[in-house]
Amino acid sequence: MTNDQKSRKMLIGGQWVEALDGATFDTADPATEEVLATVPAAGSTDVDRAVNAAREAFEPGSAWRGLPPAARGRIIHRIGDLILEHAEELALLESRDNGKPVFIASLADIPMAADTFHYMSGWATKIEGNTIPMSSAAPGRFLSFTQREPIGVVGQIVPWNYPLLMAAWKLAPALAAGCTIVLKPAEQTPLTALRLGELIQEAGVPDGVVNIITGDGATGAALVAHPGVDKIAFTGSTEVGKEIIRASADNVKKVTLELGGKSPNVIYADADLERAIAKSAEAIFFNQGETCFAGSRLYVERPVHDEVVAGLKAAAEQLTVGKGTEPTTMMGPLVSAEQLDRVMGYVTSGVAEGATLVTGGERLGDEGHFMAPTIFTDTKPSMRIVAEEIFGPVLVVLPFDTLDEIVAIEKDNPYGLAAGVFTRDIDKAFRTASAIRAGTVFVNTWNAVDSALPFGGYKQSGWGRELGHAVLDNYLETKSIITEFS
Ligand code: NAP
Ligand code: MG
Repeated sequence: MTNDQKSRKMLIGGQWVEALDGATFDTADPATEEVLATVPAAGSTDVDRAVNAAREAFEPGSAWRGLPPAARGRIIHRIGDLILEHAEELALLESRDNGKPVFIASLADIPMAADTFHYMSGWATKIEGNTIPMSSAAPGRFLSFTQREPIGVVGQIVPWNYPLLMAAWKLAPALAAGCTIVLKPAEQTPLTALRLGELIQEAGVPDGVVNIITGDGATGAALVAHPGVDKIAFTGSTEVGKEIIRASADNVKKVTLELGGKSPNVIYADADLERAIAKSAEAIFFNQGETCFAGSRLYVERPVHDEVVAGLKAAAEQLTVGKGTEPTTMMGPLVSAEQLDRVMGYVTSGVAEGATLVTGGERLGDEGHFMAPTIFTDTKPSMRIVAEEIFGPVLVVLPFDTLDEIVAIEKDNPYGLAAGVFTRDIDKAFRTASAIRAGTVFVNTWNAVDSALPFGGYKQSGWGRELGHAVLDNYLETKSIITEFS
């Protein structure tokens, strides 16, 4: 192993290196605020080195480009196996770096990351074009077909909420497509991506194919600005997503974006309320509410409003909040002091705008970034807590009488990542699913994300889709080859 725990290096061209100017930053445990490790702060010359390494690895005739797709698929599959072999270690590392409960990392993040590599490995041998007859020529005069080719050097930038899983969602399909990559994890949570870099080497990925550079927003911006990058795949806030669109204009980089959300969840009076309450609590409080598709805006049909709120309040108050590394913890600290301040700022604004605080709303303890699961009622669409993405364990509840009312409010929702509906009536379920503009709709469930199903946003929640075979389009070009017979 090339890296020790306290002082980590980053991966460029198959070497574990420091930043050229020696700059570093610390990553801390959000539960104890203790420094876990020091990592390199990549500057623009480091970004340049990494992009050049990825470019060289993409050259025709390189070890990577020369691999048969089946061999490429086997290597990708092996990465998934290695993640599972190191599942316990990775779950603990993720829990310490991000704060999330180790049981969530063990049940969700780590196995799902492995599954992403396993699922995507199969696509390496199934990247196909089509034979398409010319529409304006007599049959038999031409042979015309399409061929799919890797897009080239991809810059991938991921957030801190599911650090390893988001890295897997990015890396696995890009590798299946045959691209080379420069990945930048979030500054708050670089550790599992760096450990993954070691596993990627162990799996036999040739040097330079996957480069992992650590740094902050400026590192990300340097990657986006780099003329040697063909494509940027970004997951993060809508605000930074917009900056990336602007910054990628110079060399017309291809861009796909997975951005924020304020996902509506609808509970009808005829729903199995016990299930609806449990799943809706999970929809918002899972992973401290730091989930892009968290069910953060809940519509409850008026006759069951009070019963549902009482059930959610009980569910929130039963959640054990504590250090992620304690096995009984259901909800860990928020990722950083800054994030806690942001979320608590929303709580203050909700109270100031006249919403009723049903439970929570306070910071817990004075060490670590803990807060109580929070629920607001008596909310209005104009309130900031209803209109904006909070990205924390804060649920806003609105009563409703008709689907039309919901549709009218949702028209102004800038986001369209996910939605949910709870009902026993199949007609209501599908009418609601069709009426809401979102990339994923959960019916009588939530958090059911799967490698095979496309995931992504309508409206300002993004461009393009992750997962499924749809994600391969993000990393492939289409070439039409037209031959005329003499
Ligand atoms: P963020 O501030 O947008 O950061 C995301 C990543 O972009 C980080 O690696 C960040 O680096 C980097 N970055 C910051 N400024 C940049 C710039 N100007 N150019 C290039 N890269 C830059 O988002 P976050 O606060 O980490 O994550 C929360 C947001 O992500 C929420 O809005 C959430 O909804 C969204 N999200 C979306 C999905 C999805 O699939 N749709 C999934 C997860 C999260 P540093 O952190 O190192 O500064
Ligand atoms: Mg950390």
